Amino acid sequence: SRDNQFSFPTTSHFKVGRVPAALRQRRLRIVVTGGAGFVGSHLVDKLIERGNDVIVIDNFFTGRKENVVHHFVNPRFELIRHDVVEPILLEVDQIYHLACPASPVHYKYNPTNVMGTLNMLGLAKRIGARFLLTSTSEVYGDPLEHPQKETYWGNVNPIGERSCYDEGKRTAETLTMDYHRGADVEVRIARIFNTYGPRMCLDDGRVVSNFVAQAIRKEALTVYGDGKQTRSFQYVSDLVDGLVALMDGEHVGPFNLGNPGEFTMLELAEVVKETIDSSATIEFRPNTADDPHKRKPDISKAKELLNWQPKIPLREGLPLMVSDFRNRILNEDEGKGR
Ligand code: NAD
Ligand code: UDP
Ligand code: UDP
Repeated sequence: SRDNQFSFPTTSHFKVGRVPAALRQRRLRIVVTGGAGFVGSHLVDKLIERGNDVIVIDNFFTGRKENVVHHFVNPRFELIRHDVVEPILLEVDQIYHLACPASPVHYKYNPTNVMGTLNMLGLAKRIGARFLLTSTSEVYGDPLEHPQKETYWGNVNPIGERSCYDEGKRTAETLTMDYHRGADVEVRIARIFNTYGPRMCLDDGRVVSNFVAQAIRKEALTVYGDGKQTRSFQYVSDLVDGLVALMDGEHVGPFNLGNPGEFTMLELAEVVKETIDSSATIEFRPNTADDPHKRKPDISKAKELLNWQPKIPLREGLPLMVSDFRNRILNEDEGKGR
């Protein structure tokens, strides 16, 4: 038979020679940049659990070793301390590119979005890996279309305080599509909407982490502006499922990945009170510049083409991050006492 031309007439362990090398099943090797961060570490958990080899690249700018320390004994896991702004040589099948300071408090300091993305695209081009960019709903700016579809081009201030993040991600999307069209790199683009869950940075100023930490510490919840601006909050495991479906699927995107449930900041404060401490008080503070008034993803494209939609509503997801926050706040307080 035709099969015989591949078979070895010797011992049984050569039977693998029947299958042409390219078709042989082998473990996927995957890089996750920013894998020691909030979203990245949950993604790493999922990839390791399904049997992939995972290399995390992180410079610990906002990430923490604690987020991935449970994998250190696993030979399929590697952690490289490296800044993606510098080139790197690796051989892998897929690159999830998450490295980026993601909160207003941190992102002012870093050109990661452009240089880091360029290096990871250069890497993907050289080794023929598939590249996934974690872009953001911020590419829509202060949107004039509601809810936001992927076809909307956005309303972004190019010279404001948020611009290095918004425009940085917009440039990253442009680079990604240029490498796709110009160098045939297989790419995927996710536009991620506000995401929360265990391991979120405690001090990065995001609204969910602020409110949850404030309620645990018995401090007032700080509502910026009149609190009527809206956001849509997605639990992290839903996002991770979406990222993997996108990477492994056939569509480039961009895809909105978010939970369409829309809340004002005052409503969010109420849910946090219900979940953690009904006696918590609210304190109003001036809002930040260029704050988007509303934001809500239209996820019909991801539903249809990726067969994905979020499963965990805010009232179910919030309680899932409380014990992690309690433990970390407790440890912090103990640390201060020493
Ligand atoms: P995070 O800050 O927890 O994670 C980012 C990780 O990247 C950290 O571990 C950090 O140390 C690392 N990093 C930063 N700069 C680096 C550099 N130059 N070299 C190597 N590593 C570097 O943030 P996150 O919430 O997990 O966000 C992950 C990705 O998802 C980001 O690209 C972010 O823009 C995107 N995103 C997140 C949200 C959200 O709500 N969490 C929303 C939209 C988009
Ligand atoms: N790059 C990298 N690792 C690689 C290949 C490329 O870090 O394995 C970096 C490289 O240093 C360059 C960037 O990716 O700065 C873009 O690479 P590309 O080959 O596309 O551009 P060129 O080097 O031709 O300007
Ligand atoms: N916000 C708030 N109190 C806080 C932190 C943030 O009311 O302690 C508001 C902020 O002004 C914005 C919304 O919550 O309108 C979401 O802010 P976040 O930084 O979490 O996300 P992003 O603005 O990037 O969507």
